[in-house]
Amino acid sequence: MSQNASGYVNQRVLKINVGFLLNDGPGHSHNSRLDLPQTRVSDDVQVDYLNGALRLSRTKEGILVQAHLNAAVQAECYRCLTPTAHPITLDIEELYATQPESDSEFRIHEDGILDLSPLLRAEIVIVGMERVLCHEECQGLCPTCGANLNTDSCRCDLDNVDPRLAALRQLLD
Ligand SMILES: [Zn+2]
Ligand SMILES: [Zn+2]
Repeated sequence: MSQNASGYVNQRVLKINVGFLLNDGPGHSHNSRLDLPQTRVSDDVQVDYLNGALRLSRTKEGILVQAHLNAAVQAECYRCLTPTAHPITLDIEELYATQPESDSEFRIHEDGILDLSPLLRAEIVIVGMERVLCHEECQGLCPTCGANLNTDSCRCDLDNVDPRLAALRQLLD
């Protein structure tokens, strides 16, 4: 595997030679597993890991890719903006066509290479748009002073208590 300076596995590992399966003809399939560490899926998408089952089936139109994959993407917690590893599950079923005139968005290259990168990128971008929390109880940022309330305490609440609440509090005291 080729690794670049940042430690990410290059997206070349996502290029699969399916020439053998094309030759086998319709009805044949091939099961394998992906088990990748930090991988750059595309210029703008990288995952902390990517693993799971991958099935390639020869059809008349090309190769049907079926995969159940687990991955983690780096995202910002939507409450406190802390960079967070967000685990995602990808359930994929997509046709890679051999014929250029096919409606399919994905093609097998003329040299028999099936490149999973554009498909994985599309799936990850969709799933990655979910709201991410660093942890379920994240306290977020103080809307007044911006302090991260998970790690810092601020005095905004104490300083800006609603006068009506303050009166109530005195009664309770
Ligand atoms: Zn958070
Ligand atoms: Zn504050």
